[in-house]
Amino acid sequence: MAECNYYSFYALAKIHDPELLYEAFRQQIAPGHANEIEIEVFEYGDKHWNRLTRSGGLDQNIPEQILATLAQNFGAQDTGSWYYDSNIEGWFCSYRPLSSKHFVLLVKSSDSKKLIEEEYLQFLFHFYCHQLQMLQGTYRDALTGLYNRRAFNEKILQLLERSSSHKRRAINFSPTVFVMLDIDRFKSVNDSLGHLFGDEVLLLLAQQMSDSFRENDLLFRYGGEEFAMVLMDITIEQAQQSLERFREKIASHNFPNVEQVTISIGFTEFDKGLSMDELIGQADSALYYCKTTTRNAVHSYNELFEKGLIPEVKPPKSPSIEIF
Ligand code: GH3
Ligand code: MG
Ligand code: MG
Repeated sequence: MAECNYYSFYALAKIHDPELLYEAFRQQIAPGHANEIEIEVFEYGDKHWNRLTRSGGLDQNIPEQILATLAQNFGAQDTGSWYYDSNIEGWFCSYRPLSSKHFVLLVKSSDSKKLIEEEYLQFLFHFYCHQLQMLQGTYRDALTGLYNRRAFNEKILQLLERSSSHKRRAINFSPTVFVMLDIDRFKSVNDSLGHLFGDEVLLLLAQQMSDSFRENDLLFRYGGEEFAMVLMDITIEQAQQSLERFREKIASHNFPNVEQVTISIGFTEFDKGLSMDELIGQADSALYYCKTTTRNAVHSYNELFEKGLIPEVKPPKSPSIEIF
């Protein structure tokens, strides 16, 4: 059994996005070796191991041999060291990211005659860390550290596609909620205190969002003082309660120099078959309702529509073709 400590593991630990990890490995790090090298990420949860799939799902069909290795070697012990398993002919690295979750990364060669060497792993990880920094820059908002608009477009499209493919195959898609959030009268914060204080409020609000929602939820800076969220595995009723608690938390939070900051929130079900425009349109119309009534409020599209307080958000008509 060979073992090595590897300092760059901390950068790896910051990855919560298996898809990005898989993508980085396969396409950007080892394009010439994509057919030789396999990577897999396992997560320990609910007393057993799950494999994180490329699309972010969980797969429990892990081969017995790997399960045995995971059970034997990766319990509560320290993380960050490499471990070579000769039965599987692969290198394992166990790590515990900033959250409490416990992950194991398996890197193995699909060509059984060709063993991966420690130096090669080292090279992969140097490259990976570099790529990671670039990818983080591409997908993260520089001020708040939340996902940016580009990440928003890609991730929402992926989720919508997954949701309609589940619908086609009659598989249940766990209830998911889409949220739009906007700071109330933010212009007056900038006007009275200046842009720098305004930026500080945006940063602190983003931190509160990260602290208040779950690790699997997706948090975005949509633009300016507008944010968006995708809350996973949550019903409309639970989302109403959770968002209401968050609204109250912000309204009573002590932002330096700004007496009170309030937010308005509109949300909708991540319904099967919605287009991106409809999804955003629904949450936005609930948000707009808050803005034109009380502000500092949380409303769902469904609730307002059922009460007849807002019109239906319809799919846009397909453009008519003009023949000249
Ligand atoms: P409402 O309650 O209707 O949302 O009012 P509001 O003042 O928040 O909305 P409005 O759209 O009139 O103004 C948004 C302001 O957000 C304008 C701009 O000064 C400020 N803003 C947008 N992006 C940034 C940013 O990155 N930093 C700072 N400091 N301010 C920003
Ligand atoms: Mg605003
Ligand atoms: Mg706005």
